[in-house]
Order: sequence, then structure tokens, then C-alpha cells
Amino acid sequence: MTATAQFTAEGGCTCRAVRYRLSDRPLIVHCCHCRWCQRETGSAFVLNALIESARLQLMAGRPELVVTPSNSGKGQRIARCPTCRVAVWSHYAGLGDLMSFVRVGTLDEPDRFPPDVHIYTQSKQPWVVLPAGARSFSEYYPSREVWSADSLARRQALLG
Ligand SMILES: [Zn+2]
Ligand SMILES: [Zn+2]
Repeated sequence: MTATAQFTAEGGCTCRAVRYRLSDRPLIVHCCHCRWCQRETGSAFVLNALIESARLQLMAGRPELVVTPSNSGKGQRIARCPTCRVAVWSHYAGLGDLMSFVRVGTLDEPDRFPPDVHIYTQSKQPWVVLPAGARSFSEYYPSREVWSADSLARRQALLG
């Protein structure tokens, strides 16, 4: 697919020491309303664009991986700029370092990446009103029901 081959998106931290580029479309964009994401962002939810780490190229800087507790108990590793400490992406247990959860707000054009699915809406802040027809789940969700065939194939390729 030509469109996929030409896809690119860049982002980085606030002090611009860390810059990165996505060389392909995200597999999916999560809007997570869980308490953990609320606390870690200091906000109502987090927006994460999932992409294979091999398609996330570091252009400048060297993020520091900070081990952070997670709801699963297995922890997540949050990549932060060593200078301004802004979180640019995370690796969770499961696919680990093979998959990166890029913080959509750190992309230069975050408007290009609206959420595909809202998760953990059981703890959604009540003033956050989801758009009509938005896919949402009270907790996590079965990928097979939500991900595109292309994204499922890409994930399968990661799993080997
Ligand atoms: Zn920075
Ligand atoms: Zn969450």
C-alpha cells in the first residue's frame, strides 16, 4: 500500500532534546480512562498510539526508561526525556520492548490521531462525554473485535 509506505509523523518532548519519527501508521490509538493513566498524566485520560518499536525511530536524544508500577503488577517502562522529563512513550508487559505506546500529545500533529477505542471507561471522569458511536469498553477489550485486519497481521508478525 503506497499510503502506508509514505506515512510519517514526528514528535518529541517539550525541550526538544528528544525527537522521534513514526515510519508507519499506529496499529491503534487507545484513549485510556483508567485511574493509573489519570494519575500518571495528571489528567482525565491518556492517548496512546501503539506502534512496533522498529517503526519508531529516534532522531535526537536518548530517552531514559523509568520503571513505573502498573495495574497488571508487571510494571511499565516509561521513556522520558532525560532533561525535561516529559514522557514520550511506554513499553508495557506483554509485547514488552517490541511495542511502543507513544503519547499522542507529544506528536507534532496530534490531531491526526484521534482515539480508535476508549478503554477502562468504568473510571472515566463523568464530565468526559464520549462522541456518539465511539467504541468503548468498561475495562480492556478483545483486539480481534477492534483492530483492523492489517493491524492484527502486523501484531502477529511481531509475535513471530
Ligand atoms: Zn526534553
Ligand atoms: Zn490506563
